[in-house]
Amino acid sequence: MSSLLKIYSERLAETLPRVRDQIAIAEEAGGRPSGSVKLIAVTKSHPLECVEAALVAGLEDLGENRVEELEAKVERFGTGCAQWNMIGHLQSRKTRRVLAVADVVHSVDSLKLAHKISTSIIEGEDLVEVLAQVNTSGEESKGGFMIESAFDEIAELAELPGLRVSGLMTMAPFVDDEAVLASAFTSLRRLSESLVASVDGFGTELSMGMTNDLDIAIREGSTMVRIGTALFGPRPGYTA
Ligand SMILES: *Cc1c(COP(=O)(O)O)cnc(C)c1O
Repeated sequence: MSSLLKIYSERLAETLPRVRDQIAIAEEAGGRPSGSVKLIAVTKSHPLECVEAALVAGLEDLGENRVEELEAKVERFGTGCAQWNMIGHLQSRKTRRVLAVADVVHSVDSLKLAHKISTSIIEGEDLVEVLAQVNTSGEESKGGFMIESAFDEIAELAELPGLRVSGLMTMAPFVDDEAVLASAFTSLRRLSESLVASVDGFGTELSMGMTNDLDIAIREGSTMVRIGTALFGPRPGYTA
């Protein structure tokens, strides 16, 4: 076994049970059914050995935020071994490349990008599973539909051919204040409830919660948490 693979495997042996426990405790505290929150292991910026260790540990949902890195990892491990989640900002001109390798795109952050995805789907291809990313914090550095106009724009997005909108995604602001975090997650859940109630077939997934805020996100209704640091440690930077 390569030494890097060994390092990642040993780390996961420690961290994965802890993260799974943390999720289970938060599900229970939030009155959520056990097993209702999916763990997406964010392998971005980590080397191929990290992905290999994750797969060996039975993690089947992986998150990446750069097209080139996602392609390199899918090329090495294939599409069948895991669900590949694109969670980072996607440039329109790279749409086609992402669709070739990602199973789910969490980061559809504008109508322009949604149109681009819709028109780049080749006839006869399956629907592309996407989530609409919402900027729930109002921070300019964050991507996504602004909360004020999100309902109308995402309802429009949901009508585009070729897309299956399975739900919404957000990133909370970088703060420790629990009330601020909770309010970002609550506003995503409320938006989801209105969209599900008024747009036929709109999906109920809520992709929210990272290493620092997963408990609060689960309490507020998350169905998918995207966890990197708590599983794999600090990110070293990917080179290939
Ligand atoms: C990096 C990243 C994560 C994981 O963050 P951690 O704090 O390491 O758990 C989750 N979501 C997105 C969109 C990311 O870019």
